[in-house]
Formats: sequence, C-alpha cells, structure tokens
Amino acid sequence: MSKTTKQFQTEVQQLLDLVIHSLYSNKDIFLRELISNSSDAIDKIRFEAHSNEALLEGNSDWKVKIITDKTAGTLVIRDNGIGMNIAEVEENIGTIARSGTKAFMQSLKDKAASTNPEMIGQFGVGFYASFMVADRVTLETRKAGSADSGCRWESAGDGSYTIEECSRELRGTEITLHLKEEFKEYLDEWKIRSIVKKYSDYIQYPVVMDITRTEPVKGVDGEEIEGAGTIDKTEEQTLNSMKAIWVRPKSEVTEEEYTEFYKHVSHDYDAPFRTIHFSAEGTSEFKALLYLPSKKPFDMFMNDRKKGLQLYVRRVFISDKCEELIPDYLRFVKGVVDSSDLPLNVSREILQEDAQIRRIHKSVVGKILSTLAEVKEQNLDQYVTFWKEFGQVIKEGMHFDYANKEKLQELMLFESTATAAGAFVSLKEYVERMPEGQKDIYYITGSSRETLEQSPHLEVFRAKGYEVLFLTDPVDEWVVQTLTEYAEKPLKAVDRGDISLDSEEEQKEKEKKREEAQKEFSDLISLISDRLRDKVKEVRFSNRLTDSACCLVADQYGMNANMERIMKAMNQTVPDAKRILELNPDHAILKAMASIHQKDAAASSLADYADLLYDQALLTEGSTIKDPLRFTKLVSDLMVKAVQ
Ligand code: ADP
Repeated sequence: MSKTTKQFQTEVQQLLDLVIHSLYSNKDIFLRELISNSSDAIDKIRFEAHSNEALLEGNSDWKVKIITDKTAGTLVIRDNGIGMNIAEVEENIGTIARSGTKAFMQSLKDKAASTNPEMIGQFGVGFYASFMVADRVTLETRKAGSADSGCRWESAGDGSYTIEECSRELRGTEITLHLKEEFKEYLDEWKIRSIVKKYSDYIQYPVVMDITRTEPVKGVDGEEIEGAGTIDKTEEQTLNSMKAIWVRPKSEVTEEEYTEFYKHVSHDYDAPFRTIHFSAEGTSEFKALLYLPSKKPFDMFMNDRKKGLQLYVRRVFISDKCEELIPDYLRFVKGVVDSSDLPLNVSREILQEDAQIRRIHKSVVGKILSTLAEVKEQNLDQYVTFWKEFGQVIKEGMHFDYANKEKLQELMLFESTATAAGAFVSLKEYVERMPEGQKDIYYITGSSRETLEQSPHLEVFRAKGYEVLFLTDPVDEWVVQTLTEYAEKPLKAVDRGDISLDSEEEQKEKEKKREEAQKEFSDLISLISDRLRDKVKEVRFSNRLTDSACCLVADQYGMNANMERIMKAMNQTVPDAKRILELNPDHAILKAMASIHQKDAAASSLADYADLLYDQALLTEGSTIKDPLRFTKLVSDLMVKAVQ
C-alpha cells in the first residue's frame, strides 16, 4: 500500500478538537495514556504467546522505552508489544469503533463539553491525548507474526492522516511526538521521571530511558585519574517500581496510587467512589483490587460495552474483560483479579466451567455487596449519591441473583409519598415507620414521580396516612415480581386487585355502602359497562377513591399500565388484557350522570360521559388515550354547552 491520505471519521476529529483545545488542564496525562497502551500491548502478546511461542521472535525483554531528542524536539515511546497491522491501525486510530461512543460524541456536541471536561474522561481519549502536546504525531508499528511489513501513520490532528506500509524490523509500536514549542519541557529527564513515578509506577513492565551522566575518567582500580577529564556514560535506567499494586499489602499503597491505577483500568477521569482491595486464601487463593466508580458510564445500558474484570494468573495477564468473574448487574465495577490456582493457558471454555472462577465470582459479589452495606450504614449521604448513579443496575440483581436477594433488598432505596423528591427510604425504614394497623407495604409503578403523584390510586392511602413507594425505573416491575414480601409484610401494588385499608368493621360498613350504591345505580353501571365493553373488563364502584371520579385497576395478576408501557417500549407485543374501571359513587360526575339517567335512560350524552370517564382514567395514570381528537371534541362541546 502506497502512502494515502485519509480523513478522520467526523467523531474522531470532534474528539481531537476537544482534546487539543480544551479538554484537560493537566497535559501530563498524555504520557500515562501512551505508557498504558504500551503496557496493554505487551500484556496481549504475552497472552498470545502462551499458545504460539513463535510470535515472540526471541524478543521478550519486555519494556517501554522513552527516547528524547532535544535537537529534533521529539519524544518517542516505543514498546515491544503485540503491534498492529494496517487494518488495525485504521480501525483503532482513525475511527471510533464503539457505537455508543458515536452517540456520546453527538450528545457532547450540543452540551457544553468544554466546560465539563470530566464527562469525556470516562471514555478514555487514550492515544489522542498526544495531540495536546504535539503538533504532529507519527506512529510506526509492526504486528507480531507479520514478517517485516510494518505500517506508518502520521497526522497533525487537523482532519486527516496519512497511512502507508513500511519495512520495520522491530516488533511493536513506536510513537513519535513532535512536541509543540511550549511543551518542550517534556524532553527534560526530571519531568519524565516525575510523571512516570506519579502515573505509571505500578505498570508491570520497566519503563526505561537512556540516561547520560558525565563522569570523571577512572582507572582500572575505580579511582579517578587526576587531570584525565570527563567522559559521558549512558545507561538504561528503569523509572518505575513495577510493583503490581494488587499484590502489595494494603497498608503500603497510597490513596493516590490506588486512584492512578483505577484510572489505568477504567479510563475514568474521576477518582473512584470506593476501593476494595482484598485477598482470599483457602480453597481458592486470589487477590482482588476492585473499584466502584463514582459516576455511571454513559454506555451502562448499551449492549456492546466492555464488561468484566481483568484476570491475571500469578501476575500474568490473561484477559481484560473476564465476564465470568462478575455478574451483569455489577457491570460498573472495575478492577483486577489475580488467581494463584488457575492454569496459565486457561481458555474461554474453561473459564465458563471452572469451579475456581465460580468461587472467585461468589466472593467478589459478596465483598462488593458487603462494602455497599457498610457505606449505607456508615455514610448514608454518600450512599444515596452512589445509589442515584447505580441503583437502577443493582436492582437488576433482585431478578437475576436470587441467592443474594436478602442482601440486595437491604441495599435498595426508593422514593415515596413520604420523601421529598430526590430523597429515599429503605424497606427497613418503611416498615419501621408503618402506622399501626397497616399490614402491607404499598407501591405504585410508573414512569416518573411527577405522574405518580397525581395518581387517583393514592387518594385513599393519603387519607389513611400510609406511605406508598414510587417505583419509577423500568426494572422495578421485575423487582416486585421477585420481592413479594419484606419482613413478612407482603408488597402490594396500589393499582392492582382489591385494596382494603380499613378495620373489619369499617370494611363491612364500606362494603355495605358500596353494595347499596351498586344496587341503586345498577342500570347506569350496566349502561357504562356496555358502552366500554371493548375497553374494560368490568365497571364497579371503588373503595380507593376520595377525590377523583374514576381510575383503572389491574387484576391481582393482570398487567398494569406501567408494565404495558414498558413492554411496548421494548417492542414486545402486549396481550390485550382489559382492566377494571372503578368509579367513585360520591363524585359529582356520577351524581350528574345518575340524574341524566333518571330523566332519560336513553340519553345520548351518557355514552359520551362514559367515554370521557375512561379517557380521564387513562390520562391520570399517565397513559395515552386512543383518540385524542374525539376526547377534545367532547370536552369542547361540554364547555360550550355549559355556557349556553
Ligand atoms: P483505548 O486504549 O482506550 O482503547 P486508544 O485510543 O488509546 O484507546 O487506543 C485504541 C486502540 O489502539 C487500543 O485499544 C489498541 O487496540 C490500539 N493501540 C493503541 N496503542 C497501542 C500500542 N502501543 N500497541 C498496540 N496497540 C495499540
């Protein structure tokens, strides 16, 4: 392939513009990103070489070398990792492959990304960070196993890049930064040393640099020879300590080191919310360093996001996304597991079957859940902040991790009729503050607190002073299928089945009244149910309304409005389950209808009234009405009539 000039994908150029102009005030991190990439590339070839030793080409003196040239003004970062072929360079450096990233860039375009730099941190600008300090970047690379055909890529970050084949003896990748005038300080030895120490000390491979010192000439005995002058001596020095951070004792790792390592594994820009560092001995021996992030990643609910933890076996890198180590509902957790028991040549198939892995999985989950319980206990405010970011995912565990149901139910928080917006109650607190006489835990599901607060279903609960939980995440519908009771108190949906909050006596009293009303208005009721035959299953008088005229109720086991909405949003066919229309016999509308009915049982307005009642019930629960045009016309007609 001869030298060709290509345009960056639009999103890449947008990203580059952000990087170049505004992104990070801390320019030092470009070096961290490049060293991190090199370290990953060495991890990869070491792993591939387990099954194909020829890839090593006798070159396994692993290192990342930094070379400065003050005359040329260049800084080189060279590794003997896996390298890339032309297709990979184009894919990795010229485009943004992850589909979520594209959407994310789009959203950044309209938002003030430049004023909110941490937003972008979460997606790791990686290689592109070089353009913060360089006005031209050259990348030369040769992939392991591909003879001597290498690839050369170059760009000034201004919309296009060139790419060509080149011959290259060395395996791996070499990146040359042509530093901008104002960033020549990155050629100073002390500067490089301090950045490596700060950000890349834990990198497993030596980060080296040739250091030249001027020394007096010495004799064979090691003594200075007077008057013989000085000579320059160059030595390759290692700048980092290379200690895998997770094998070090906790007491010896500083907060800063933990944070830097977190940024390395997560590509996050923020510090983690919590760091969990532990080791296990006994039937399975492993070390784990896990992080709970403080902000949810933009792609948490996208299918193609990278999942899992990094897996090492006795400090040898095996996989950077081992999904078997952690359940999906904890997919936001980042970190490393290093096992002492697994074989080095462990394959995907083995990982899926392996009993060791299952044990590690179990203890990782246990540790995360107990850490969360501890935070909740000790620092509720912090826990609430965390819950707002990740609660929605953790709740998936209620459905998928039945074994941990007991622990998970203690971690859940909900808004309720008794909390301010954005404040929460736990199930435990809810039960503790249940007034005497309340037997069940009540909840209502829907798309938002604002809609739910308007729901007529809540009227009788408000009157009684009973708290009702607002379940507004789609996943909540699944949560309540698993969580049918808590502390021996059944969970009940306020819009489902028969609800009775009264003492036996009151109940009898009310039931009697209802029956009487039902009898008195039986003709009217059957007229309404006839009219709404295709829409509702039954029309009856209600126990749950005090102010509103009507509401729709699901059967004890039927599908409620929220579930229907969610299923439709997921493009699922929704079974045509009719619900029950409950009417408030004390409401003025019912009285008005009764009086019309008395005068003329065949009055055509009664049918219109019935339709309006049904549509009202849909609107108040946040559902959409089938025929808004007709609804509007009916209301307008009534308004006009009222004036006449
Ligand atoms: P990230 O590291 O977050 O994936 P980068 O933009 O830094 O993002 O790199 C994109 C991809 O390019 C990497 O995932 C890797 O596949 C490849 N890459 C980058 N640097 C190197 C390197 N030194 N050696 C081999 N591959 C590399």
